[in-house]
Parts: sequence; structure tokens; C-alpha cells
Amino acid sequence: MKKLIRGFRDVFDKDASQLTGLEVVARQIFKTYNYKEIRIPTVELKELFVKSTGDSTDIVQKEMYSFTDIKGRVMSLRPEGTPGTVRAYIENNFSQVAPVQKFYYIGNMFRSERPQAGRYREFEQIGAEFIGSNSPSIDAELIILLKDIVTSFGVKKYLIKINNLGCENCRPKFRKDLVTYFNSIKKTLCDNCKTRISKNPLRVLDCKIDGDKVKKSAPKLALCDCCKKDYNQVKALLKSSNIKFEDDSNLVRGLDYYSGTVFEFQAGSSAQNAIAGGGRYNSLVKNMGGADMPAAGWALGVERVILASEPKPAKKEKLFFVVSADEQYNTKCFEIAQNLRAEGINTDGGLFDKNIKQQMKESNRKNVDFVLILGEEEDKANKISLKDLKTGKQKLVSQKTLVKEVKKLI
Ligand code: AMP
Repeated sequence: MKKLIRGFRDVFDKDASQLTGLEVVARQIFKTYNYKEIRIPTVELKELFVKSTGDSTDIVQKEMYSFTDIKGRVMSLRPEGTPGTVRAYIENNFSQVAPVQKFYYIGNMFRSERPQAGRYREFEQIGAEFIGSNSPSIDAELIILLKDIVTSFGVKKYLIKINNLGCENCRPKFRKDLVTYFNSIKKTLCDNCKTRISKNPLRVLDCKIDGDKVKKSAPKLALCDCCKKDYNQVKALLKSSNIKFEDDSNLVRGLDYYSGTVFEFQAGSSAQNAIAGGGRYNSLVKNMGGADMPAAGWALGVERVILASEPKPAKKEKLFFVVSADEQYNTKCFEIAQNLRAEGINTDGGLFDKNIKQQMKESNRKNVDFVLILGEEEDKANKISLKDLKTGKQKLVSQKTLVKEVKKLI
């Protein structure tokens, strides 16, 4: 018997509804901010992620599902949505035609991480990407947009952390200072971090093994005047919108392309407490072969937002179930069910290979509100029995006025 692969999931009924529920909330809010949906492929050339997400990241080094296709091309299942979105922006020449683009995407991502609560190998992200502006108001807008989505879905307890990772002017000195410091304590670092020192020293601060240990004593970034001004403005805008946040100089996001403002939304106390994160990636479009186009964005983990939420109980809609008492009424019962569905009435049934008792039993199992039974007695009188399963009361209703009668009960 084939088994489900570890880290992957089958999602049923109420859990699936929660995923859809968050998607619906997000779409609604994206609309109010005028973000447009983009659908990007699940598979891209591996090289795309190596060049964008970055070859010093855990994602690219050890977490991608990659394979060689029939033509010998090395492909990867997307581990995140930004690279595909930026590729699509460049490939469709947006920088010439309409450089300012506000995209959102909803889709499954794949990372071969060690599975645990809130960490899966296939998971869903909802993301926003703003390409074409370096305004601090865009950073603030993105953070507030994200906050609007998670709070509208019912996340009440969360913490917003923000930081600024500097730009090409101030980051090189910071990088140099970090390299000097990490080299001085190289012996104490994990093997991964030893190689990170030369490739991307900032990532040592983000290492799951060494990060916390080195954060306190590592050199701090001195922002240039330009970054300082932008960062102060982002914070002022958040404050003026009554957004509470924590300024955390140790916040380093796990992807290579971030610069300037970065942020993370945290909820709960587990190791998987990051429910969403993002920031500026002003050099990415250019580094991927496009125009020199500033950009910023974020992604939220759908499963983690759901885990952190306290959703309002969904309103239960009435459900009807059509039962045929004998084979000769099957066609009529089938038509009755279809007529009700065509009127937007939630209708189950159609189990006409089972006898009346078995059909009634199934309606109980399905938590149905009303059962409609058609048998000899009812049909002779052009009626149908309507049974309220909560009260047990039953009455005869005319077949002609059935839809009207049923609608009264909804
Ligand atoms: P990232 O793309 O790494 O910045 O992650 C953005 C968000 O995606 C995180 O804050 C998590 O909520 C979610 N996420 C990342 N990796 C996983 C995973 N393996 N399983 C579930 N959610 C994840």
C-alpha cells in the first residue's frame, strides 16, 4: 500500500475550508489595496532560485526538490514565490510598459525541511510583491496590508518585528566587520556557518544553530543617512497608523536578496513562530537581468496563520437530503435534488442503491437538517415528506411548491 510522504498532507473538509477562508479574506483585502493576482508556474529552472533566493541560503543549499527533465534541464519545485514573480515581470517587459506593479499570489511551495508542527514540505503561501517604487510608504503599506489580512482572519496575538539591513553604501562595511568577527570565532561555528562567512556572513546571524549565540556580540550595522531617513519614515508611518512593532536589529530574513527594511510577524512561542515575513529587495530585478527597479514584498505561511488564529465560528448553512423510498422514484428524486441545487439550496442524497433505512442513516451521519422522502403514498398525492431531523417532526409538502417551502426554512 502506498503511503503519504512525510511532510506532505491530505487536507479534509473543515481544514480545507480554513485554507480557502484565508484565501478569500486575503483576496478581498488585496482588492482594497489594488493588488492584482499573478499565477506563476510551480516548476522553474533551478538556476532561477540559485540566482535569486541565493546559493548561500538553506533553501537553495539543501531544501529544494530538484530534478532533471527529459531534455536534461535541471528544474525545481518552487520554494517561494518572489523569484517566479520577478522573472515574469522581467520577461513580460513590465519595466517598459507599466513599471509599477502590485502583484499578489496564492500557491503551494515546496521545501525539504525537517517536518514538525507548523513546518511542512509542501505548504501554502500568500504573497505580495510591489515592484517599481522605493518609497518608505510602500514598506509601511505592505506591513499594514499584511496586518490587515492576518487580523481579519482572526489572529489576535502577534508581534511585528522590523529591521533595516542597509544598502550598498552602508552594508559593505558591516559585512567586512562581520567577516572579521566570525573569522575570529570560526572554530565555534557550525560547518554551514563556516562557509557562510565568505559567501553571506549576514546569514550566520540567522543560523538555527549559531544565530542566537552570536547575535549579542556580533558587530552592529551603522545605517547610512539615506537608510536612516527611510527607516525612520517607515516607523513614523506605522506609528501614525497605530501599528505596534518592535525594532529588532538582529532580525535577518532567511533569503539573500533582502536589503533595507525587513519585517517578520511572529505568533506563539514555538520554533515555528514566524507566520509571515518580507522586506525590500531593491537589487533583485536588476540582478536577475531586468531594469534597475526597486521592489519590496512579503509572504505569509497559510498553515501557520491558521494555527495562530482564533477564527469566528462559521455560520452553519441548512442542508437537505433527498431519499427515495423505492427504485421507481429514483429519477424523480434525482430531479428534485437537481432542482433544489439549481436554486442554490444545499442538497445531498442520491444514494439510491441503498434502501430507505440506509439512506436515512447516512443523512444522520452527514449532520443533515432536513430529509425529503418520496414514496408511494407521497407520490400518489403529488407530495413529498419533509422531515426535520432536529425536532423529528414530519409533514407533507406539495411537489409543486417544494422550492418555495424549502426556502422558507433556510
Ligand atoms: P519565507 O519565504 O522563508 O520568508 O517564509 C515566509 C513564511 O512562510 C514563513 O513566515 C512561514 O509562515 C511560512 N513557511 C516557510 N517555510 C514553511 C514550511 N516549511 N512549512 C510551513 N510554513 C512555512
